[in-house]
Amino acid sequence: YSEEEKTEDYLFKIVLIGDSAVGKSNLLARFARNEFYPNSKSTIGVEFQTQKMDIDGKEVKAQIWDTAGQERFRAVTSAYYRGAVGALLVYDVSRHLTFDSVGKWLNELHTHSDMNVVTILIGNKTDLKDAREVSTAEGKALAEAQGLFFMETSALDSSNVTAAFQTVVKEIYNILS
Ligand code: GDP
Ligand code: MG
Repeated sequence: YSEEEKTEDYLFKIVLIGDSAVGKSNLLARFARNEFYPNSKSTIGVEFQTQKMDIDGKEVKAQIWDTAGQERFRAVTSAYYRGAVGALLVYDVSRHLTFDSVGKWLNELHTHSDMNVVTILIGNKTDLKDAREVSTAEGKALAEAQGLFFMETSALDSSNVTAAFQTVVKEIYNILS
């Protein structure tokens, strides 16, 4: 068989959503480039970043989209969601208000994309231990109620960042392959 037949190509569009400043751009920067920006402005975001991943010995490409700050103006466009098969819905464990917005983001996601989009709820900034306003149990309970995967991460200290992206990509792969 030819090279082309040997390598099946998988390209999954995955979107990052959640309130402003929860750490979406830094989760992507940490995952794709192992970088972190301590004082990032909403402008640092790229439109999307393509990351090669190995899932069960198959090469899979995750095309991860960042809002690049659009969410500050409540103007995340339908084009952003179009064709997405996965989503990381991020809140900040040190700001309960960002957790209260999760339902709004889920509605928006389901309005603009397929109901079956693989979604993981992410509580980011676990390094801010003394400032925590959302418990792990609270996050987990909401995820269970909404049928979402769940993980807590820190883009600052890297914990669970790769695992969070891998969970989504692996589940998409399992469903589509
Ligand atoms: P976005 O608006 O959701 O894309 O959020 P950013 O990625 O721009 O991050 C907003 C701010 O939170 C920046 O000052 C980041 O340095 C900070 N930040 C992001 N992730 C973490 C984290 O895991 N821990 C801490 N302590 N700060 C973070
Ligand atoms: Mg951003």
